[in-house]
Amino acid sequence: MNFNYSMGEDSQLYKYSEYVIKEIEERKYIFPADNAQIQESNINEKVTDVLIELLDVGKSVYFNEIDVEGQVMDFVSKYGLFGFINYFPVNELYFIDNEIVLKEDKMIDEYLIKADVISYIRIFMPNLLNQDIVDKIVTAKENIKANRITENSKMLINMNFAFSHDYGEPLEMITKYAKQLYEDLMQIQNEEDSELNTNDFATLFESKNGKELVLKYETLKNAMDAVFVSEVMAEVRKLKICRYCDKPFLAVNPKAEYDIPACKNKANVYKFRSKNT
Ligand SMILES: [Zn+2]
Repeated sequence: MNFNYSMGEDSQLYKYSEYVIKEIEERKYIFPADNAQIQESNINEKVTDVLIELLDVGKSVYFNEIDVEGQVMDFVSKYGLFGFINYFPVNELYFIDNEIVLKEDKMIDEYLIKADVISYIRIFMPNLLNQDIVDKIVTAKENIKANRITENSKMLINMNFAFSHDYGEPLEMITKYAKQLYEDLMQIQNEEDSELNTNDFATLFESKNGKELVLKYETLKNAMDAVFVSEVMAEVRKLKICRYCDKPFLAVNPKAEYDIPACKNKANVYKFRSKNT
């Protein structure tokens, strides 16, 4: 399958002007800074570049490079948090039920002791009192009155949760996600016939006509997943990992194996030497 895609124009992400790391119960979180202002984050024009930056974070995690934390902070400062809170529940309106049903995903197991909705929301809003969380749930329910879920009501719900000033994400959840994407790409590159388990991705496609797909997203994770899946499933895959320096890159020439000429030269020297010793 080969298709062109564009980012949905009504997809709007939000971020804060500044983020900080806070330690809560021995876990590092990234939160908006106390005085940070919410702002629109438009990634439509550069969504593939944003994915490459995220894969580069994944590479640093994979190879245990120094200052992964600084790299994650740079990324979040530019593009905001991922909105993982929307991803794990089976029901996208998870706050309606008292008990929450989660997708099978290793990433969340270690955080959740009880499967009730308040415990779940607390993973991402660990500084709130129970009553504050209950109030947020009530507001979110009001936003979908009469069971009508519109684009606007979804946005209002996200303002209560994923884009809220109280919302944070565990640093380790972000590094695991970035590493998983990098490993998936590595596996696809190394075993050309390996199949991607698309169940692991939160993609929202809307087909215009047979070959034109509009990617819709309401969180950064949606956007990254959608672009990743489209790039790796393309008939001619241009998203690659350099065979010399392991950096993720988007190849201009689909046959390219190296991100920059210097890597190709070094790889050739290396091959030459190993042949001649
Ligand atoms: Zn390279």
